[in-house]
Amino acid sequence: MKRGIAWITIGIIFTAVWVTAGTLGDLPPYTPDANAERESIPNVYLWDLGDLFADEVQWETAYNHAVVELAELGVLHDSLDVGDALPEYLQRFFDLELLANRLTLFANLSAITDTTDQDAIARHQRALSLTNAIMDESAVLRNAVLSLSDADLESAYSTETGLDAFRPAIDGLRRRADRVLDAEAERVLGLAGDNLWAAIDLNELPSPVERAFQALISEMPLPSIADSDGAEVPLTFANYGRYRASDDRQVREQAVESMFATIRRYENTFAATLGGQAQLDVAFARARGYDTALEAYLDKDDIDTAVYRTLIETVRAHAPALQRYVALRKEVMGLDEVRIYDLYVPLVESAAREMTYAEGAEVILESLKPLGNEYLTEVGWLVNPANGAIDVYPSKRKESGAFSSSVYGVHPFIKMNFQDGFDDVSTLAHELGHAMHTQLTNANQPYLQSRYSMLLAEVASTCNEMLLSQYMLAHAASSAERAWLLTELAEGIRQTIYRQTLFAEFELRLHELVEAGEPVTASRLNEIYTGLIADYYGPQFTLGPNDGVEWAYIPHFYYKYYVYSYATGMASAIAIADKIGAGEPGAADAYLAMLKGGNTAPPVEMLAAAGADLTKPDAIAAALDRFDAIVTELEELLMTP
Ligand SMILES: [Zn+2]
Repeated sequence: MKRGIAWITIGIIFTAVWVTAGTLGDLPPYTPDANAERESIPNVYLWDLGDLFADEVQWETAYNHAVVELAELGVLHDSLDVGDALPEYLQRFFDLELLANRLTLFANLSAITDTTDQDAIARHQRALSLTNAIMDESAVLRNAVLSLSDADLESAYSTETGLDAFRPAIDGLRRRADRVLDAEAERVLGLAGDNLWAAIDLNELPSPVERAFQALISEMPLPSIADSDGAEVPLTFANYGRYRASDDRQVREQAVESMFATIRRYENTFAATLGGQAQLDVAFARARGYDTALEAYLDKDDIDTAVYRTLIETVRAHAPALQRYVALRKEVMGLDEVRIYDLYVPLVESAAREMTYAEGAEVILESLKPLGNEYLTEVGWLVNPANGAIDVYPSKRKESGAFSSSVYGVHPFIKMNFQDGFDDVSTLAHELGHAMHTQLTNANQPYLQSRYSMLLAEVASTCNEMLLSQYMLAHAASSAERAWLLTELAEGIRQTIYRQTLFAEFELRLHELVEAGEPVTASRLNEIYTGLIADYYGPQFTLGPNDGVEWAYIPHFYYKYYVYSYATGMASAIAIADKIGAGEPGAADAYLAMLKGGNTAPPVEMLAAAGADLTKPDAIAAALDRFDAIVTELEELLMTP
């Protein structure tokens, strides 16, 4: 790996990286193998759950304590309305919630490294049902906090010792106090599955129509296609992405066309489930006096609808850059027409460098240097597997994929399935971004202010990926490697900013149909979706007869105004990483303040202070101007006559 000149001139960073690099250099060699037994992986590469619970016996003891505690909370219910039991109740509730999170994390982490371990699975299920019971209990807490008048609450703050510590939680609940209905109406909304007060991510709470959608997706028979060797292979949702990106045009055409033709046969059922979801969203919003579902679901996270509309307007204003990218594809791929199945093929051959875990970690640490010494020291600790926070390699019964997961009071845990590819290094940078967000928030905020908004979460992870990308571009060994890195970045921006904004606009139009009392039919949805593809991809793109039905299999449309946050997350991360990478004075510190801030202010405010004000077009425009510049450079690199 290469070291920049700045690395040597800034002494204090030099020391921090040197210590880490030296330690990582001592790691035992290991060749990743997805079929390896977990026991055959050197111990240093496995995470150590001992920081959560020493062993299963200690977990069991804590679990039993939590069950007793939950029952005892019920005893306090009757004295809640007078206010004097409130501090004790809140203290015990939040202690219990934290303990349940810890129990769940331990159970989950031990279950996923061996997905056949029945004891671990059973522990996980018990922890989850405990969490469900605590969510029910939180309705009692909410009612207790919301039923107090402002005057009663203020007098309780002055007379009840200990209540003041819960101000952030109480303020958070009372922010939407005017959206709460009388007890009977609340009871009925609860029975109907209202989710506007849910304490967890809305996309984890499937409605009955979403479950019908999922069932349809899993039961829908998919056709077989011929792969590039002419062998017949059954199409599945798991292999669809791979065949869609095949460099054999016949293979990808068959994959996409046969998928879309199959979906088309069920389009009325898909329109019924999706229309049903939108009707539910609108009904819950109207029940609480909101004009639109957009307003209701963004208000849940204290986000103004202007953020949503600004995203759509700004991305639309930058559609010409996307359309030049489509034209670039047409030229570089030598196509007569660009079809929907031509969008996912890599434009150039991969020039990805293989890296061992230690090499990849050191490149990441180099790339994150612009964030300063404090960040580097912490991230150096997390990435060093000897500290037990990371589970590096795949093994036989380990769940695939990667994540960062945590509970307040303990360092984050990162699951990887590292296999020495550059995409693994990128994923590691991403997960370290989430882990560092948690680490810095937890070190600087009390528990009640540590739960950061989903609007901020993907900024922290993607910012690291963008700094890694900047570093790799600055150190590309050849113009072929540079071109490959640029095509990866361009395609990432197409899929995450342009495509997810197109989705966000579709989701808005869908809800607007319901709000206007118009029927949600498959033909209406196809028409809207087709219009959006034409608007975004422009005249160089050739629409196919079934392209308009793509909306039907996208699960994100059931997530209740969630998909836009992928686009705002990446756009904000690019805008912020570009400022930090360019060494703009104060940029890194402003960003670190956001990472340390938890949920101490509304998320849009925190993000604005960090360098991406989503109430204005600036950050999104900056990210898409960068996309524009990448397309220009690719035109020069790939279209030389
Ligand atoms: Zn992420």
